[in-house]
Amino acid sequence: MTSKVKVRFPPSPTGFLHIGGARTALYNWLFARHNNGKLVLRIEDTDRQRSTEEATQAILDSLTWLGLDWDEGPYHQSERLEIYGEYVEKLLKNGKAFHVDDPEKGRAVRFKLTGELTGFDDLVHGNIRSDTSLIEDFVIQKADGFPTYNFACVVDDGVMGITHVIRGDDHLSNTPRQIALYKALGFELPKFAHIPMILGEDGSRMSKRHGATSVTEYRENGYLPDALVNFIALLGWSPGHDQELLTRQEMIEKFTLKRVNKTSARFDYTKLDWMNGKYIQDLPIEDLISKLRPYIKDANLDNGVFTDEWLFKLVELYKERFRTLPEFVTLASPFFTDEIEYEDAAVQKHLKKSNPSLIKDAYKKLKEVNDFSSITELEDCLRTITTEHSVGFGKLAQPIRVAVIGKSASAGIFETLELLGKEKTLKRLEYTINTFL
Ligand code: GLU
Repeated sequence: MTSKVKVRFPPSPTGFLHIGGARTALYNWLFARHNNGKLVLRIEDTDRQRSTEEATQAILDSLTWLGLDWDEGPYHQSERLEIYGEYVEKLLKNGKAFHVDDPEKGRAVRFKLTGELTGFDDLVHGNIRSDTSLIEDFVIQKADGFPTYNFACVVDDGVMGITHVIRGDDHLSNTPRQIALYKALGFELPKFAHIPMILGEDGSRMSKRHGATSVTEYRENGYLPDALVNFIALLGWSPGHDQELLTRQEMIEKFTLKRVNKTSARFDYTKLDWMNGKYIQDLPIEDLISKLRPYIKDANLDNGVFTDEWLFKLVELYKERFRTLPEFVTLASPFFTDEIEYEDAAVQKHLKKSNPSLIKDAYKKLKEVNDFSSITELEDCLRTITTEHSVGFGKLAQPIRVAVIGKSASAGIFETLELLGKEKTLKRLEYTINTFL
């Protein structure tokens, strides 16, 4: 059964969907779904200089990628000029608006404020008082015939029957003007909920300086939509307990405006990475592979020589070790290519100081292993060496690891050798013996 709740997400298409905008969209979506209500998507493109078709498309793509669907729209304000015109006429007729002529700009319409502007009860902040002395009669229709934001927004919210306006608190100062317009136009007032801004890690308003700010960038940087949605849901809302990983269904069930914070949340990049890693671990390997393929291709690692089965094993082996999709490529590139980079610190610590005869022996014995796809054979081989040399297993595994992948951290050594294969393993051991020992 659908309820009377109707909310809206009305972006201005002047750029990419910002993380703050995505959170506003998400809170509206969660509120609508929690209440069995409706979400309207409205493109506020009345600023003709700044609005673009590309930005509209980018915003729609981002919403779709995030999995935030809407029930009505997208409406475009630029296609609704007639409607705003009718309401302007109405106000002009009953004396609540008047024309102003500017010799340069042309003829605009201003709204005539009568009486006091009132404060209002905000569902997040409580009672908001407004300083009415600063507000003057304001423009509702510009000389180019287009409505101003405040006017178009109120007409649409009124006509569309919006019950709750959930938006960033950068709009708090617009609300008293909008309330005056609702009253003058005879619309029922919606309830307002203004959500605090998102701050960067240093406590100042989140901007490019802090890192990626748009959904598009997070998408390109290898974050998963489910992880991003989970993360931004918690930027200003809490389910009331410590659980941080929530499915969409859990978020829908638990979402209330009462649990939206009054104070700003900080964007914690480390936490986002952690969360993304968790979502990566939870993905079925096949799905993960299809998300990784474009990154593998972009890094020119798609040399065509590996099989699906091989890639499956490699991704399975590494899936707990990367937090973003491109990080997989960085970690796993030594498996794909012959150009590997040796980390200096790892070389110093594990190769320069190791016992050369141990590595040489490993080279000799690994050469005799017939089947590199057999973990047992590889294990027997390496264990024999450590027994013969009376050293702990790490004394052999660490230098071999650095020799074959260039760094001191990797998945299990046997699996690493298996996936590298005999040829790459021996070539790299040989290189190591000739170069570092
Ligand atoms: N177009 C406005 C914006 O993107 C909408 C504000 C509102 O929700 O009223 O900021």
